[in-house]
Amino acid sequence: MSSSAQDKQKTWRVIDLIHWAESYFKEKGFSNPRAEIEWLLQSILSCSRMDVYLRFEETLTQSQLSKLRGWVQRRITHEPLQYITGSTEFYGRHFFVTKSVLIPRPETERLIDISLDKIPETDKLDILDIGTGSGCIAITIGMERPRVHVDAIDISKEALFIAQKNKNHHNANNVHFGEIDILNNSIQKPVDFIICNPPYIPNIEMDSLMEDVKKYEPSHALTDGIDGLTFYRRIAEKSREWIIPGGWIILEVGLNDHPLKSMDLFKDQGFKNVELLKDYNGDDRILVVNIA
Ligand code: GLN
Repeated sequence: MSSSAQDKQKTWRVIDLIHWAESYFKEKGFSNPRAEIEWLLQSILSCSRMDVYLRFEETLTQSQLSKLRGWVQRRITHEPLQYITGSTEFYGRHFFVTKSVLIPRPETERLIDISLDKIPETDKLDILDIGTGSGCIAITIGMERPRVHVDAIDISKEALFIAQKNKNHHNANNVHFGEIDILNNSIQKPVDFIICNPPYIPNIEMDSLMEDVKKYEPSHALTDGIDGLTFYRRIAEKSREWIIPGGWIILEVGLNDHPLKSMDLFKDQGFKNVELLKDYNGDDRILVVNIA
C-alpha cells in the first residue's frame, strides 16, 4: 500500500487490507501476521475482533487508511501494538499507555486475583502500590474494592500523568497518586497492604529480552540496573515500618532464581509467613508475605 496519488484513489476494503498486511507482516518475519493486522484494525474501527470479521466488505476512509499505513510502518520496527494504538486491556478494563509506562501484562492479573482474595469487600484498608506506571494495579484494586484507599507512587512524572488519565477515565476516586523516589524516601504512615510489580529483570538479562520490549518499554520500569532485587530488598528492610502488624506484602516476581532470592530477602528479615504462588504457566510468580 504505497502512498502515491494513484493509490489514493483505490478503495480498500477491510478484507483487502487484511490480505495485504498479512503478507507484508509475514515477509517481515512476524510469527502471527494475521493477528497483527486484526489488532490494528480493531483499533482503527473501534470494534471487537469478531466485528472485524463481520465488517470485511466495509471500505476504509482516506484518513483511516493513512493512519493504518503509519501504524503498520511503526509495527514493522517492532514497536508494541499497545503503544501504537495507545491502549490495552487489563483485568477487563481499558488503560491508556505511552512509552513512559510499562505495558500491563496478563501475569499481573494474577497479582490482582491473589490480592483481591485477601482484601475483604467491607474493609476500609489502606493500600500502597509502588511504581504504579500506568496505574493498572492501583486502579483495578480501587475499583474492585471501592471501600479501600489506594496510594500509588512512582518516580516518573510522565508515568503519573498517564496513571492520572487512567484514573479519570475510570472515575477511580479512591486512588491517589504521588511522586516519590521510594528507594531514597519513606512513606508517611504504615499501610495494610503493599501490592506492587517492581522492575525485576536483572541487568545482565536485559540484552536477551524480545526486541519489542528492549527497544520500546522504559528500561527503568523493567530493571533496577543491578540484580533485579533492589526494590524487594528495600521493601523487606522497611516492612515493619511501612506495614501495620497483620498486614500483607504482595509482589510480582521474575523468572529463574529471582522468586527464591526475593523470598529469602524476607526470610532474612525474620518473616515466617512467606509464600510463593504460581502463575497460570506453572511458574512461581507472586510472593506473599504476612507481617506478623
Ligand atoms: N505497576 C505497573 C504494572 O504492573 C508498572 C510496573 C513497573 O513499571 N515495573 O504494569
